[in-house]
Amino acid sequence: MTYQTVETARRALALQFKSAAIDSAELDARLLTGHTLGLDLTGMITAAQRQLTHDEFARLENYARRRLAGEPVARIVGEKEFWGLPLRLGPATLVPRPDTETVVEVALEVMRTGGALDRPLRIADLGTGTGAILLALLSELPAATGIGTDISEAALQTAAANATRAGLSERATFIACDYASGLSGLFDLIVSNPPYIRSADIGGLAVEVRNHDPLAALDGGADGLDAYRALVPQSASRLAPGAALVVEAGEGQTGQIEALMVAAGLTPAACPKADLAGIPRAVAGHKTAR
Ligand code: GLN
Repeated sequence: MTYQTVETARRALALQFKSAAIDSAELDARLLTGHTLGLDLTGMITAAQRQLTHDEFARLENYARRRLAGEPVARIVGEKEFWGLPLRLGPATLVPRPDTETVVEVALEVMRTGGALDRPLRIADLGTGTGAILLALLSELPAATGIGTDISEAALQTAAANATRAGLSERATFIACDYASGLSGLFDLIVSNPPYIRSADIGGLAVEVRNHDPLAALDGGADGLDAYRALVPQSASRLAPGAALVVEAGEGQTGQIEALMVAAGLTPAACPKADLAGIPRAVAGHKTAR
């Protein structure tokens, strides 16, 4: 394989990824070439005919090898965009998924319906990881403040760095605890994307997930619902009257999560919201308004 110009390098990489049956071959080739050269899409078009240096070529080949071995592009470049925010990743965080933006959409709809968008809302994000959901919400709710919790100190450091980078650090705090166990006071909105994969299904996940996302952020126990059994009742006792819990669900889990909400005294919203693939993904439950 010869990498001469930016353009031929990118094309050769895309072909290589395609023949390895990587779905996002074109995009991955563009992102890795751009990362190697420190160029965005426009920069790459402008530089299309420029020759790669020996060093750039070697770095690109190294990235290509890693991608072909199953490492996701987001891990290689060390960040992923979520809700328009560039988020750093760490070994203790998931790569934020577009599916999870469904949780942000539902949370914002719930706040909009309650006429609360401009209020000084108190938000909690349980198992915050990169801080993705919390920071997306704070970026949309100018008067809100939020707390992200995680059992991983390393994840909390990543989340705090992401808050600073997004200019949201004054409204975001991060604390180490299991879900809502370390929180005090009442919240207007609690969100979470907990681990929900059944333990027995972990081995069948794509190599990008199985070998590169942290197990603690994936494994939801025998039936995938362990995290909800902990966090739904914890959250119910931390919600202000009329406040809402919005969680991400694994495929086929929304009914069982709704049942856990009912058992904890919450009223599930009429219908879970589907992600872009049409899979019911975000479940909301309300605490009765007094
Ligand atoms: N959405 C992730 C996946 O499909 C799982 C994340 C989670 O368990 N919350 O692999």
